Amino acid sequence: MKAQTWHGGANFTLDEIPKPEPSPGYVLIEIDTTGICGTDVHVTQGLFPKDPPQILGHESSGTIVDVGAGVSEDRIGQRVCINHPNSCYECWSCRNWSICRCENQSGPTNGYFAEFTAVPSRAAVEIPEALDVETAALTEPAACCLSGVEMLDIPYRATGLVIGAGIMGLFTAAFLKSHGVETLVVSEPVPVRREMAKQFGADILHDPNDIPLSDVIAEVTDDGRGFEVTAEAVGKPELVATCINSTKPRGQTLMIGVSPEGSPLPVDLYDMHYREIKLVGAFRQGDVTHRVPDELAKLNLNNVISGRYSLADLPEAITASAEGLGVKFVIKPND
Ligand SMILES: [Zn+2]
Ligand SMILES: [Zn+2]
Repeated sequence: MKAQTWHGGANFTLDEIPKPEPSPGYVLIEIDTTGICGTDVHVTQGLFPKDPPQILGHESSGTIVDVGAGVSEDRIGQRVCINHPNSCYECWSCRNWSICRCENQSGPTNGYFAEFTAVPSRAAVEIPEALDVETAALTEPAACCLSGVEMLDIPYRATGLVIGAGIMGLFTAAFLKSHGVETLVVSEPVPVRREMAKQFGADILHDPNDIPLSDVIAEVTDDGRGFEVTAEAVGKPELVATCINSTKPRGQTLMIGVSPEGSPLPVDLYDMHYREIKLVGAFRQGDVTHRVPDELAKLNLNNVISGRYSLADLPEAITASAEGLGVKFVIKPND
């Protein structure tokens, strides 16, 4: 099969490698769609630690085409999204924290910028009839947002702010609304993304290049004291600080964006301490993946996929993602 191997920096090679065999307990998936994640962009820019060479890509959907020993042949033909593979479900992290932090990860799984992958059967999550297989590739980013939003304690009639309307900001907005935020502001400088936030439930769209956020806070929040919940979905420490500074006393800030490793937080800790702000980290999809396809089927996801690329054009797709002019770019490995 064909796969794109990452060699560090922005260097990839399109290789012919052996098609994986489904070992006992595994299923073989023909990949329909793999999303380009902000993390993939950051990896190629040296902003997220990973060791080359490897096949990247972790947001994927497809169809089961073969099963290993011990897996029912009834699974062949099922349309699936892929949960975090190869977690043991037995270590401390799997039992008490998240299967994404498994301490004993093992097994023959390639990344999904490839035509096929073999994953443990339980990591191949069947999607509902109402969801198309391409959209199902958005399960992984949506799961990260749902897992993060569920860590918050959202009060009655809450006001909320999301900074960033890339795919993570959009899903965070949708789940904040479905979890009780009454009035939600989404702040985003890129018009195409900002407009899309409406589709995800935003009540007020804010262009930071046009009006200072402080004006919105004065107008929207109780006494101008700030939002009950704020979420940073870009991955810039100064925007995490903006969120904290826009949060009302005893409010909560959610970190959805991945700031570069080693980033300090540029806030006045005395102020944060004094105003009793709660800062909530959120990384990867927690244990919510199996619930996400049904949530996706409820959302209006028209035009969320901004561009589709062949496997050979992965470097171009990553460049398009890095330029930030669309919402979600995807690879279609078998087209
Ligand atoms: Zn991702
Ligand atoms: Zn584990």
